[in-house]
Amino acid sequence: MKEKLTLMIPGPTPVPERVLKALGRHPIGHRTQEFQDIVENTTELLKWLHQTSEDVLAITGSGTAAMEAGIINTLSQGDKVICGENGKFGERWVKVAKAYGLNVQIVKADWGKPLDSLEFKKLLEQDKDIRAVIVTHSETSTGVINDLKAISHYVKDHKQALMIADCVTSLGACNVPMDEWGIDVLASGSQKGYMIPPGLSFVAMSKKAWVANSISKLPKFYLDLKLYKKTADKNSNPFTPSVNLYFALEEALKMMKEEGLESIFKRHEIYKKATQEAMQSIGLPLFAEKDYGSPSITAIAPKNIDAEVIRKNVKNNFDILLAGGQDDLKGKIFRIGHLGFVNERDIIAAIGSIEATLDQLGVATKPVGTGVGIASKILMENK
Ligand SMILES: *Cc1c(COP(=O)(O)O)cnc(C)c1O
Repeated sequence: MKEKLTLMIPGPTPVPERVLKALGRHPIGHRTQEFQDIVENTTELLKWLHQTSEDVLAITGSGTAAMEAGIINTLSQGDKVICGENGKFGERWVKVAKAYGLNVQIVKADWGKPLDSLEFKKLLEQDKDIRAVIVTHSETSTGVINDLKAISHYVKDHKQALMIADCVTSLGACNVPMDEWGIDVLASGSQKGYMIPPGLSFVAMSKKAWVANSISKLPKFYLDLKLYKKTADKNSNPFTPSVNLYFALEEALKMMKEEGLESIFKRHEIYKKATQEAMQSIGLPLFAEKDYGSPSITAIAPKNIDAEVIRKNVKNNFDILLAGGQDDLKGKIFRIGHLGFVNERDIIAAIGSIEATLDQLGVATKPVGTGVGIASKILMENK
């Protein structure tokens, strides 16, 4: 039976039936009152999700479009920026910043370790010319959550610098209060915590970011956020948006509102804990330590066996798709996505499947069911 694939990768994530149904409607004209009503409604809900009174703009494109938009709409060639780099996505923002001729200083941490917020503090205190700090909140490639709250705090003290944050796998999974933390540019993407297919991305802009926008000289056209703001104020878009993804977005945001932010954050926290504890209980080491494990994704670094072998066998045996390691981590880690439309059953199934697969491969060190036992206890305690 190959028709029941369960996605446990960090995007695309599973899509609820309510959202799939919304997606399957006939498209409508994007210059109609009916569509404007959807934009109005989704904009309000997006602000609620971001915990902000600032603008949240939607772009038809993947998460990278939102991040690139944030960078090119606030900066100019030669501007000094600090990029945090402790994984694949940190590296991506360095590439984008360099592609646009920014003067990039990199704060690095080893893959699997969090960025040191004090390094940002030091650099910001030393240099009044810094224009932006660019950081990935949840580093999906390694399963590490960086201390965005602390880093944002130091950026706020700097006065000039903007806090530009990739919150693609943190928004909708853990608390990211944009206004309270002082995040100036916050990027996210539809195929992650939003529970809708890939194709929409979101960029939220603070007033400070708009001031920077007024002097930003980097070239832009499709991603010129001034156009998005102008049209968003009239509940519209500058170009033809992905109309059906807007239907999906509206339904998914309604579902999130029904569940409530606190419940959503708690659910992800518990799934993370259950996954971490279960993996450790069966002798599979966590790649990132528990304290800074991402709420969305847990990376596992098995010893004495190729991580890809486990991953492929879990897929073949159980039709559960786990994520592999990227670049140097290929074969060294596999990653369990527990982000978005995920429930207790998915967590138990993933853990049980991994246990059964280790047993099949002859590398299990604990009886099958050990991890499931630990995870179910955590899940049930929190019911
Ligand atoms: C998925 C993801 C992105 C966006 O990638 P796209 O493929 O452009 O959607 C950005 N940052 C992080 C941390 C991600 O997990």
